[in-house]
Amino acid sequence: MFNKSRPLSFEVPEYLTSLVPYPPGKPLEELEREYGVKDPIKLASNENLLGPSSKARKAIKNALSSLHRYPDGSGYYLKRKLAGLLGVSSEEIVLGNGSNELIDFLIRVFIRPGYEAISSDPSFLVYCKMVQAVGGSNVVIPLSGYRHDLENISRAVTPKTRLIFLDNPNNPSGTVIHRADFDAFLEGLPDHLLVVLDEAYMEFVRTEHTPKAVEYMKQDRRVIGLRTFSKAYGLAGLRVGYGVMDREPAKYLERVRQPFNVNTMAQVGALAALDDHQHLKKTVDAVRQGMDFLTEKLEELGCRVMPSEANFILIDIDRDAKMVYEKMLREGVIVRAMTAYGLPNHIRITVGLPEENLRCIEALQKVLRNGR
Ligand SMILES: *Cc1c(COP(=O)(O)O)cnc(C)c1O
Repeated sequence: MFNKSRPLSFEVPEYLTSLVPYPPGKPLEELEREYGVKDPIKLASNENLLGPSSKARKAIKNALSSLHRYPDGSGYYLKRKLAGLLGVSSEEIVLGNGSNELIDFLIRVFIRPGYEAISSDPSFLVYCKMVQAVGGSNVVIPLSGYRHDLENISRAVTPKTRLIFLDNPNNPSGTVIHRADFDAFLEGLPDHLLVVLDEAYMEFVRTEHTPKAVEYMKQDRRVIGLRTFSKAYGLAGLRVGYGVMDREPAKYLERVRQPFNVNTMAQVGALAALDDHQHLKKTVDAVRQGMDFLTEKLEELGCRVMPSEANFILIDIDRDAKMVYEKMLREGVIVRAMTAYGLPNHIRITVGLPEENLRCIEALQKVLRNGR
């Protein structure tokens, strides 16, 4: 009989054995238990500082009695609502289990061994990991002055390039692309690839001069926009996001997805959240206020602060980020050390409520003061 002590023998490609999993954040409960800190706060995953929309909560409660049914596999109402809001057709929208799933679909459809995806370094870690998971090649272009280096990205395009991922705003820097730069960039690109604008944080952006994917995709079939309900809408736990794109790529994405990839609660919650204008506005206002407060205080502490347009802020603390992260944990404040992003001296802080931001500053001040 095959027993437990015998090793399994199967082949796994090198690109999978060498794949480093996405680094998980620390759950709050774990921190309380492990470090014995009271009322820890989490400013690490760019979640909504106010919590979920109350309209979404109510809609989800009302939908509980239909949990025995499979979800609407076509996402009919959510697609129709989004299509109306964006001025596109339902066939130009693909729903996903978080916008992460759209990234996955795009890569599964367009990348395979021998094909390339371009992204910036650092940017959202998921792009590279999913490209590696299908055996594709990552072409990684360093940010220039914490911004996407569109000129170098453009130079890196080859006949094998299929996808270019641009998180706008960029995670972790929070910087945005300039519209004029993007126009010039598109002008120079061939037609055998797609440009994916990941707009997870677009609701927070203050500047007017950045490109919005939906405007571009209406005129340029190569442009795809990704949006999520996880950040400004406060529904990260539900897992729902969408892509706006030309019908042709959309058609292929629809083929690779599971029939019920977006669950009932997610569809119902997202629909209600789209009507909760007050929650969105409160969220955006609170984030901008918190951002201004944090920027000022962090600069007072002598940290180098990147000019973020999102709900998080990247800072250079000029010392080992892992150590600062650990010490902040002991103060009950969870931030993100950017070591996994290749920035060993940087931490990223999600904007929280006023009292959370203050506590974060106080903790950081204490940690930085207590030396290297
Ligand atoms: C948080 C984030 C997302 C959102 O992912 P979901 O799967 O929708 O929760 C997408 N892109 C970037 C760059 C992010 O930071």
